[in-house]
Amino acid sequence: MDNGLTSSWQERTAQQLVRYEAIFKLLDEIQQTEHIEQIARRIAQHWKYFANVTCWRLVLPKEEGFLVIDGYRGEAQLASVLTLDAWDAWHLSQQKPRLVRPAELFAPPSPPEHLAGTAITEIQVQPFVRLGHCTGLLSTAARHEPFNELDIKFIRLFGSHLVDRLSSIELRRQAMQALVDKATRDALTGLLNRGAIIEQLDRQLAQTISCGTPLGIILADIDFFKVINDNHGHLAGDEVLREVSRRLRAHAFSGDSLGRYGGEEFLFVIAPCGAEEVEKAAERFRRIVANTPIQIGPDPHQALTVTLSLGTATTSGHECHRLEELIKRADDALYLSKGAGRNRVTIG
Ligand code: GH3
Ligand code: MG
Ligand code: MG
Repeated sequence: MDNGLTSSWQERTAQQLVRYEAIFKLLDEIQQTEHIEQIARRIAQHWKYFANVTCWRLVLPKEEGFLVIDGYRGEAQLASVLTLDAWDAWHLSQQKPRLVRPAELFAPPSPPEHLAGTAITEIQVQPFVRLGHCTGLLSTAARHEPFNELDIKFIRLFGSHLVDRLSSIELRRQAMQALVDKATRDALTGLLNRGAIIEQLDRQLAQTISCGTPLGIILADIDFFKVINDNHGHLAGDEVLREVSRRLRAHAFSGDSLGRYGGEEFLFVIAPCGAEEVEKAAERFRRIVANTPIQIGPDPHQALTVTLSLGTATTSGHECHRLEELIKRADDALYLSKGAGRNRVTIG
């Protein structure tokens, strides 16, 4: 072999090795982490070195909605969406690979904006189907040159590995979440259970003591709930508990925590929150339950006026408060609300 040929062969082999090394490293990284965002970022940074892929979109169906990952200019953007755009929805329903040539790029459905730049030569759309279900949809765009056969093979193989990996991470996350929910949620109302809301209060108390911000709690108890059970049956009582919980949750602010503290008792943890705001919040909760009767059963005319008695307690900044002492103060205030005629708020 002449020297020129040997050196160009050696050069090509060396380049090939660098590519192999890079892809093994990427596969290794994908395997090592459970963070979808981290995986997406690594792929966005490295994919341009293989298979002429400059920008891409990966759609993964989730339990509810979809995860859409866009790779563009070495960056990855993740979004959880409930509905897909026309491009993804159409290709997902087709469940067939498609090579979209430049002339077809302008026909509907049009590709996502980042896949339709000027130098884009074609788009390979690759769905991944397992047991009749599409587990992922990958659209990759080639730039300057069209994909060659090897590129397409790579996209199919790598894409399939990626979809399986991300789906298994998502499934594991869902299973973990289901376990956590089972351990921390009340089955009837879906609110945090007693253990979880107390744990939350403990955590928030420690945090507010170190930050010096006030924290407020509200204990709320349904008035004459036993009478509802006695007059309308236990199932109607359950329905009232569910509806009261739904209203309280809907009117709580995003940082507030709410749990079912006992049978027909609820505990709110609001932080940061001073005495005045906590009173306002308690009034708001009292009104949204008392002001609209709760329908029990299918007849819209059969509705009950349900009321709450509430008691509050607040901490002040750095001062150390024991959890039991705080709950007792709110409970004493609640007891005063009951004594004063119910359907009212008492500040503890
Ligand atoms: P007060 O105004 O003094 O709070 O009176 P009350 O009747 O609400 O209080 P009491 O403690 O006498 O009764 C609470 C009732 O709540 C008794 C219990 O059977 C009922 N209860 C507790 N948990 C549940 C539940 O999960 N479902 C139903 N339907 N009832 C429940
Ligand atoms: Mg009660
Ligand atoms: Mg009670």
